[in-house]
Amino acid sequence: MEDLVIASSNKGKINDFKVIFPQYRVIGIGELIEDFDVEETGTTFEENSRLKSEAAAQALNKRVIADDSGLEIHALNGAPGVYSARYASASKDDDANIEKVLSELGDTKDRAAEFVCVVSMSAPGEETVQFRGTVQGEITLGKIGEHGFGYDPIFYVPDKGQTMAQLSAEEKNEISHRRRAIDQLEAYLKGEAQ
Ligand code: IMP
Repeated sequence: MEDLVIASSNKGKINDFKVIFPQYRVIGIGELIEDFDVEETGTTFEENSRLKSEAAAQALNKRVIADDSGLEIHALNGAPGVYSARYASASKDDDANIEKVLSELGDTKDRAAEFVCVVSMSAPGEETVQFRGTVQGEITLGKIGEHGFGYDPIFYVPDKGQTMAQLSAEEKNEISHRRRAIDQLEAYLKGEAQ
């Protein structure tokens, strides 16, 4: 069974990859390198995702997958974007990030937003391939729902009539930006295996 290394320390993300790729031995990079950390100096999800997968592929001399994701809000010119995790402060505080977004939006009528995820796959001596998944929604006036993480409680999904935080993990995983990017990667890997 071939290894598929994920350049993330997020257990939830690694688990998603395990479920989607049973034909691979999915390994979180933490099992191979202690304290793997790449400075996310890019200004796009594509750049940051590539920085992580290429650094890890080089360090391990193996094929590696990384992802970078965040929330883009139309009325805020795409903010918080690549700064989603640290929008309010360096401490990656989900509640503080939500408060900042809500106060910046105030009672603005245009509440259109999208979650974005870019998955990159890099291997020594090969071109990096990238896949982008998005999901459209609207920012609510306050927090609704208890599930998920990050901005889920203020991200309303019109198709579902609920916020991301009201959906179960399974329901979210069917429609999420991450799932949509991973689906494309999965199709690519299947094509490669034929
Ligand atoms: P990263 O991909 O782990 O760097 O995540 C970036 C940040 O974007 C997270 O810390 C969250 O604030 C936000 N984010 C990314 N994906 C989601 C999601 O599925 N739900 C809610 N927030 C998300």
